[in-house]
Amino acid sequence: MLVDLHDDLGNAIAQAVVDEYRRPSNLENKALQQFRNARPKETETTVLAGLVKIEPNSRPIHQTKRQKVDEKPQLDVLAVCTGMKVTPASRIERGQGRIVHDSHAEILCLRLFNWLVLQEMNAIRENNGSDLLIQDHVTEQFKFKHNLQFALYISEIPCGDASTENLRDSFLDQTDWNNLEETEGIFRGRSGLNMLGRVRTKPGRKDSPISYSKSCSDKLCLKQFTSMLSSLVYDLVDDPPYLSFLVLPKEKINTTALERCFRDRIKMTPEVSSYYHPLKVLATDLPCQFTGSTPSNLAILYCPPRSYIQVLNKGVRNGCPAKKGIEYQHQSDVSREKLAELATKLAPHQFKDYKELKRRASVSARKKSAREAIGHWGKSSEDNFALSHE
Ligand SMILES: [Zn+2]
Repeated sequence: MLVDLHDDLGNAIAQAVVDEYRRPSNLENKALQQFRNARPKETETTVLAGLVKIEPNSRPIHQTKRQKVDEKPQLDVLAVCTGMKVTPASRIERGQGRIVHDSHAEILCLRLFNWLVLQEMNAIRENNGSDLLIQDHVTEQFKFKHNLQFALYISEIPCGDASTENLRDSFLDQTDWNNLEETEGIFRGRSGLNMLGRVRTKPGRKDSPISYSKSCSDKLCLKQFTSMLSSLVYDLVDDPPYLSFLVLPKEKINTTALERCFRDRIKMTPEVSSYYHPLKVLATDLPCQFTGSTPSNLAILYCPPRSYIQVLNKGVRNGCPAKKGIEYQHQSDVSREKLAELATKLAPHQFKDYKELKRRASVSARKKSAREAIGHWGKSSEDNFALSHE
C-alpha cells in the first residue's frame, strides 16, 4: 500500500526532526545563535523538512528507561531544512551555478544529503571513518552501509500535484481555479487546478517572474526512479539509495491525490517500472510548528552529524548580495558549483563544464525516460559554468 495512516513509525520520524529543530543537539554558541535567528518569527511561516536515517533493530532506543532491548529502529536525523522560496529563471541564468534556485525545504534536505555524502567520501579518503558509507578497496566505488533506509518528513504536503486538491479547496473564490495558463509549454503552479496529475512549476503569484523549477511533488516523484543522489554523486556509488518513506501531516493527507502523484499518473513501461522504487507515505499527528502567515525569506540548512549550519536568503548566503554576478564566497555550499567541485575531486574523469558532467552522468538516460513516463516535463533553466580541476 502506498499510503499507510496507521504505522507509528511516521510519528517517531517526525518527532525526531521536530526535536532537532527545536533544540539542535549539535550546534554551539555562534552557530546555535545563527540557527535561532533564522527560524521564522511569530508572524512568519515556513516549511520544515528533515531527512532521517533508519537502522532497523540495530540498538535499543531509550535503553536507560527500559532495560530491555526493544524492536524500535534507530533514527538519526541527517538534515533539517526550512524554506519556501524559489529563484526566478532570469536570475539563475546569470548565476553561473552559484545560486540555489529551489529553496523549498524538502529539496534543500536532498541537496544537503548529497553534500553530506560527498563529505563522508572525503573523510573515508583521508582515512577517517563514516557512519554512512564504506569504500570497496578494489573498485574504489563507495557503498552505503547495509540495511539503511531513509525517510523524509515534511511539515506540509509537497507543492504541485500531491496538494492540488488541498490548494483548490483553500480558495474562497472557486470560479478562478480552472484558469488555464500555459507559458512556453509549462504549467505554472497555480493554474488549471482542475487538471490533475500534471507536472507543474513551483507555485508563485501570477504576477511573479517565472521559474522553471518543477514542483516538489514532481521532483520527489522522479526520485523514485533516479535515487536520492544527484547525477554527480550517483556515479560514485554502487547501489544508490532511494527514499523509503515520506512522512506527512495526517490531517492534510488526501490518499487519492498522493497515490495519483506518486504512482497512478506514471505511464509504466516494462523498462521504466524496472527501476521504480515506490515511496511509502506515512502519517504524523504532530501539529504545525509555525504560527504566522508571512512566508519567511530565510532558508536553514542544518546537518547534525557534521554540526553544520548555513542560512540562505534569495538563493545565496544570508547577508550576501544576490544581484548581478555572485561572488565565489557568497554562494551556498549546496550550490551547483560547490557540489560539482566536491564531486569532481572524487570522480575518475574530468569534465569541461557542468553541462558535460550532467550529460555524461549514467543516470541521465533513466532520468529522461522517467520524465517522459511522468509526462510533459517541459523546459528547465539553463545553468552552465566551467569546471576547474586543480
Ligand atoms: Zn515545494
